[in-house]
Amino acid sequence: MKSFLIAFSLTAMIIACSPTGIPVKEYENHEKQDGTTALSYSLPLLNATSGTVLMQKQGGVTVTASVENFQTKVSYQSDTTVFECDNNYQDKFQVKTTPSVSVSPQRVDFKIKVTNDMERILKIKEAMFEIIYDGVGYSIPDSVLDDYQSINIAPGHDHEIIIKGPSTLKLKNESTISFLIYDMPIKMNKASIIEERGNYEWNFIYSKHEVSKDYDVGYTYYYKEINTIACSKCGGDGKINNEVTCAYCLGTTKVGGAPCTLCGADGKTDVDCYECGERGIVDVPLSPRAPSTIYYSWFFKLQTIPAGAKVRVYNIYSKQYVVAPPDASGFFEWTKTSSVNPKPVLIIENNDTLKLLPIKSTGKASGKVIIDYSSGTPIVKNGTVVE
Ligand SMILES: [Zn+2]
Ligand SMILES: [Zn+2]
Repeated sequence: MKSFLIAFSLTAMIIACSPTGIPVKEYENHEKQDGTTALSYSLPLLNATSGTVLMQKQGGVTVTASVENFQTKVSYQSDTTVFECDNNYQDKFQVKTTPSVSVSPQRVDFKIKVTNDMERILKIKEAMFEIIYDGVGYSIPDSVLDDYQSINIAPGHDHEIIIKGPSTLKLKNESTISFLIYDMPIKMNKASIIEERGNYEWNFIYSKHEVSKDYDVGYTYYYKEINTIACSKCGGDGKINNEVTCAYCLGTTKVGGAPCTLCGADGKTDVDCYECGERGIVDVPLSPRAPSTIYYSWFFKLQTIPAGAKVRVYNIYSKQYVVAPPDASGFFEWTKTSSVNPKPVLIIENNDTLKLLPIKSTGKASGKVIIDYSSGTPIVKNGTVVE
């Protein structure tokens, strides 16, 4: 036990005097922060022309036509890419979530409300619907025709019909699109014989509006163990068999006439595989390693007069100052975080904070710093005060 203590304090002294100390590798963090991106899209707009009345009454039938609203829908897509890693034993991946905007419907849909104020049943198949844009008739698909041609509206009732119109991609900006109804029965006698028919017409101006809005872009990161493959040098054994000449028999297989016990009379001995470092596997990393800086730490003792000053040191992992009690041998550990502007040790006495580097005026590491407060002005020995 005693020899252990001596060995320990000797080691501590050696460390304290060593300017190189324990190297700490810190990787740069290039992770991206969540943010926004501006997305542009065209939002269609259909405005009725000044001469167009949306609600039109003829005889006993009122028809109101409007255009279905266009709506935007935001969807998000996630893409995973290999990212630079901030340690040596994992791979790191970035998941980027990006937005996209779509506008729906992608065609002009007319919403037609037909109100039957006649005393007889109104059969919609008696009328014909037509859409005209840029002077060309758009043929309403049969499926849509089938849907509305079977509609009968009882007296005093109304019915709403959606007529699926042309794709907005086909429409030119500022073009006119018209919806027409021909031969709608508007007056019937008591035997349901149509006595009068009417035509209806609505005109709209189609326009596109460029919209630009900000949407969220997100980043997340995750780690994965590095993939490994069997070492081809040692075949996964971690050792290369019979690689070097036996140091005992010098390859002769015999020592003093007897078979060599070290190499089993092979004349050669195994060596640890230098390719895989005895692991039998080799890493196949995907991530490049992030740029890194090596910081050194060393141990120093602090004596204050009077004793009892508080000490705070910068922790490179938490990146903040922490209360740092000395170790069992009275040593504080300090990490030189930069060669140009290292984070000093903070020594707090009577509400005054002294920023100190445990570095001698010669530039060498200090093993013991002494601060004497007794004169009112701190006098520092074997240390450097910084602003
Ligand atoms: Zn041998
Ligand atoms: Zn190997």
